[in-house]
Amino acid sequence: MKLISTLVLLLIMLVIFGGMLLASGPGSKKAELTMISQLSGQQGTSMFSASGYDLTPLTEDRIEELASKLDPEEARIILRKGTEPAFCGTLLDNKKEGRYLCRLCALPLFDSNAKFTSGTGWPSFFQPADPKHIRYVEDNTLGMRRVEILCPRCTAHLGHVFEDGPKPTGLRYCLNSASLEFYDRDAKVPEGGMPDIKTESAYFAGGCFWGVEDRFAQVKGVLAAESGYMGGKTQRPKYSAVCMGGTGHAETVKIVFDPKVVSYEQLLARFFQFHNPTQRNRQGPDIGTQYRSAIFPADEKQREVALAFIEAQAKSSRFRDLTIATQIEGTGQTFWRAEEKHQDYHAKHGGSCAIPELSGG
Ligand SMILES: [Zn+2]
Repeated sequence: MKLISTLVLLLIMLVIFGGMLLASGPGSKKAELTMISQLSGQQGTSMFSASGYDLTPLTEDRIEELASKLDPEEARIILRKGTEPAFCGTLLDNKKEGRYLCRLCALPLFDSNAKFTSGTGWPSFFQPADPKHIRYVEDNTLGMRRVEILCPRCTAHLGHVFEDGPKPTGLRYCLNSASLEFYDRDAKVPEGGMPDIKTESAYFAGGCFWGVEDRFAQVKGVLAAESGYMGGKTQRPKYSAVCMGGTGHAETVKIVFDPKVVSYEQLLARFFQFHNPTQRNRQGPDIGTQYRSAIFPADEKQREVALAFIEAQAKSSRFRDLTIATQIEGTGQTFWRAEEKHQDYHAKHGGSCAIPELSGG
């Protein structure tokens, strides 16, 4: 009896301590699920990526057709989630300028400017070519908890992603060379490597960028919205400098859109709904030129549309007794992407910036 109760006690302790070890390790289930939800949260809901690719999953028949070109080793890795031996892949030491496409469906997955030498023996990148061009799933095989990366279009197995990469993302995308096909920068790529739609970009400053970015991200036809800075004197401005008001930059949101679904003029109308264009150098509690209302036209065509839009608005009943403070700034200015912590701020943290909307109109 005594032996049995000792064994039971040992078993209970093993379960408790084993559970504690699993829960406290860097690869704990909770940590990885947070990572998956954070990375997937940047992807939005549109079937198109900001770079203009239709990410509708391919049919099984089409995947099978594409898979017929793979050799047995490639098929083992790509279709059956295999791993190539370390230091054996053909792209490990590739230092050429260009793009890495999905071996199976040719979707551009990584760019040479995000490749780094990790010392692990597998090609490593710190970010994908487009946030939407990678799908993340939890992988509990081999007694580990890892985040597997897949091609979102054809579900090809690519490798895994780890949180020990270099700045600015701190991520290490660990790839199998067999899952990739490299193309020089100007090389002709297969049909699947060409964008399905031609996207355009628009730039609006309407106070705190967290709120403006969140509003635009939900507009139909908007494929991506990111927070940044425009219209200032310094290069590569940081939030700490911009928010003091000395650099001349305005908190600005870059919008990538499908002009066949939403026009630039319709975006201008939404911009005037998402902030109060009559407030000069402020939005509600946020005061200073960094919170000014401004439009940064990408080109002359956008500048003309913006001018006509503001002229029409000024004559409308909504602004009868009010003055529009929105400035149209110089065309073709540089957009400086803000620090990662400011991207998708609302999606990550919830809550809402004070966006004083103008009633009526
Ligand atoms: Zn693919």
